Amino acid sequence: MLVLLKRGTSEPVASDIASRLRMSGLAVYRTDHDGQVRLGAVGDGASVDWDTVRRWPGVEEVRKIAVPFKLASRTFQPHDTVISVGRCAIGSAQLALMAGPCSVEGEEQVFTIAEAVARAGATVMRGGAYKPRTSPYSFQGLGEEGLKLLRRAADAHGLAVVSEVMDSQLVPLVARYADNLQVGARNMQNFSLLREVGRATKPVLLKRGLAATIEEWLMSAEHVISHGNAQVILCERGIRTFETYTRNTLDLNAIPVVKELSHLPVIVDPSHGTGIRDMVAPMARAAIAAGADGLIIEVHNDPDHALSDGAQSMFPAQFDRLMAELRIIAPAIGRSICLEPVARRGWAR
Ligand code: PEP
Ligand code: MN
Repeated sequence: MLVLLKRGTSEPVASDIASRLRMSGLAVYRTDHDGQVRLGAVGDGASVDWDTVRRWPGVEEVRKIAVPFKLASRTFQPHDTVISVGRCAIGSAQLALMAGPCSVEGEEQVFTIAEAVARAGATVMRGGAYKPRTSPYSFQGLGEEGLKLLRRAADAHGLAVVSEVMDSQLVPLVARYADNLQVGARNMQNFSLLREVGRATKPVLLKRGLAATIEEWLMSAEHVISHGNAQVILCERGIRTFETYTRNTLDLNAIPVVKELSHLPVIVDPSHGTGIRDMVAPMARAAIAAGADGLIIEVHNDPDHALSDGAQSMFPAQFDRLMAELRIIAPAIGRSICLEPVARRGWAR
């Protein structure tokens, strides 16, 4: 249920209402919107007499949240959530540009790519140190060593770090190095992992599952938020369909749907969404035009020899060109690129 308080309700009255709801066994989450306190009361409210609650002093209205995801819904919070990752306010007018290799492979690779993506104007560096691979014989990632390299390379170029955490026990370790914890598509419904990232203090990049509906995806976001972490960035990365030409089918419908249903920011991963290097730029442009809050893109200095996802990794020059195109598209739809390219910002290196 959503309990809307009267504008101007004093703080003691508002917190008294919240604690009375808590005493009925409900979890209570508060947002302040437009000068109005909104209390999301979640749980089994069978024993609560909502008609009585409606008459409590300070209560203006009690409304049912019709969708199964409550805290992630626009009913609970009408205004957009804005999440800071490095220098970028994701979910604001600024577009978040995250780029880097699929996997961290070594020092030279990660420093070369960090320089290239920073120069092009990305503000967040991606790179996997723990890799979810279909085959147990494929490269599994460098683990903590990879995270250390990624952090150093990102710091050298003024970038924030996003990296995947696959195991709930590794959340504190990954959170030590990364600014943004990525939950991969294969783990979208790994509920113990969602619980642990929900207890973390770093923003969570929640990828859509390989065959997940938008509602299931938002329910996973709900898990994270309900454990205390409201900083969830959704990431559309393509879903399984009957089409086999591309690796996945990038569901750009999801952008306006999520924007309508939820206040959470949504970014797009056209690399995994297409699986084909030359398809990444057109789909990236389309995603931004459709209202995505940013992109996460795989870039590699030597994609032909990449240890994972080389076929979908852009060359640095391609990424640079894409960024130039996005600088034209963004203002046409009232958005801006987070930062000017590093070279023009004059970063000390
Ligand atoms: C990745 O980002 O490299 C990755 C494995 O992504 P996804 O979980 O979307 O497949
Ligand atoms: Mn990848």
